[in-house]
Amino acid sequence: MTTALALTNLEASAGGRQILNGINLEIPFGEVHAVMGPNGSGKSTLCHVLSGKTGYEITGSARLDGDELLALAVHDRARLGLIQCFQYPTEIPGLRLREFMLEAASELGIENGAARIVEAAEQFDMTRFLDRSVNDDLSGGEKKRSEIFQMAVLSPKVALLDEVDSGLDIDAVREVAAAVDEMRSPEVGVLMITHYSRILRFVIPDRVHVLIEGKIVASGGPELADTLEAGGYERLRAELGLQAAEEQKAPAPDPFSELPFEG
Ligand code: ADP
Ligand code: MG
Repeated sequence: MTTALALTNLEASAGGRQILNGINLEIPFGEVHAVMGPNGSGKSTLCHVLSGKTGYEITGSARLDGDELLALAVHDRARLGLIQCFQYPTEIPGLRLREFMLEAASELGIENGAARIVEAAEQFDMTRFLDRSVNDDLSGGEKKRSEIFQMAVLSPKVALLDEVDSGLDIDAVREVAAAVDEMRSPEVGVLMITHYSRILRFVIPDRVHVLIEGKIVASGGPELADTLEAGGYERLRAELGLQAAEEQKAPAPDPFSELPFEG
């Protein structure tokens, strides 16, 4: 099996502060890898650096199916088959989901875009949203489902899911997890970032990695998520002999992160 995403000594800093401290990670095609970590450990930064957000100083390497990503512009990374599912999907009033997807599919040279959109919309229960504005007035769970629907249409080689479960109630988590599970295929590698292990009850990852202070400090099978669930990050930190993280300041609280989007 070839490697969908290979990260070697990936380091990133911003504002004079080192955030990612040498990440090594390989996700083979066909696998789902979960990256778990406390607030402020660098999970979103990892996604941003991979998808091409500017403003970071970056060293190391990130290869998608063998191609180096780090020097490329965002749209060129997307053309190679990278997609990011956002933690807070943006509402775009005035742009219909169907038109948005037709344009994206055509940019990627996908044939039968219109038919694929209809088919994926049925699969992910998005048909009634196709002729509404992208994410406009959707619930938290519907927005996340829409992100997964978009991935299904665009068939990425690598999907980055940043806290796809955040802000959702348990039924919505289960629904989004089912959608992620349907994305599993030998043609895609999935990097699923999560703070809580609850989504991993519904999408069983092939591997779990723990990110603390910008470094992967432990990797294992799905049982690692259970260990974390039982003892929290602090116990793992103690077991690994890591210092309690006085420096690991959480980012300023995001006013939207705790919104009860659903129910
Ligand atoms: P997570 O997603 O794991 O909660 P983030 O990747 O958002 O964490 O942030 C990791 C750390 O890096 C935090 O301490 C955050 O404040 C800091 N950070 C993120 N982006 C920047 C930036 N552009 N400039 C300075 N510090 C940043
Ligand atoms: Mg984050």
